[in-house]
Amino acid sequence: MPEFMAHAPEANWRLSPDEVVALQSFLEKLSNGIEITQEQVAQADQDTWKDIHCLECAQCCKTFTPRYTDEDITRISNFLKIEESDFKKAYLLQYTNGEWVNLAVPCSFLEKDNRCSIYAVRPTCCAGFPYHNLAAIQERPDRLQRNLKTCPASVRFLQNLKNSLEQ
Ligand code: SF4
Ligand code: SF4
Repeated sequence: MPEFMAHAPEANWRLSPDEVVALQSFLEKLSNGIEITQEQVAQADQDTWKDIHCLECAQCCKTFTPRYTDEDITRISNFLKIEESDFKKAYLLQYTNGEWVNLAVPCSFLEKDNRCSIYAVRPTCCAGFPYHNLAAIQERPDRLQRNLKTCPASVRFLQNLKNSLEQ
């Protein structure tokens, strides 16, 4: 069993193929402009975190890479007290489109207890994950769709939102 499965917050959070299709179809309706308020989104997100604990999971840090902006690189290099060029050499690689991403997956900054060793200065991309807000739903539904297979919180968030809109 891969390590990340052993730390999943719930053994049974993964969806059946039918449940994935139902949530994907709901997500499509959301991104196509179904009527929804910021308050409903915020409530669904708030309810999500009542029983989902990232420190028992860390699947995002174990399976995805953040994209590092220039500001991220400067901030993290300063925090680590190393030159930006040394930071890039030690931890990052650059895609042909110019984006900087993690050299290693799981992320080199993920500690054994699932904490982030650079939490206070982590990439903006990490700070925004898992994108439970109205703008993200409408502008980048693909990110939440991808999370359905990886992030228990996003699964719970979309289930909460679906339930609240169907009431
Ligand atoms: S954001 Fe999602 S995938 Fe990442 S640690 Fe939290 S529950 Fe797990
Ligand atoms: S920088 Fe921190 S929050 Fe971001 S992927 Fe790495 S360990 Fe996770």
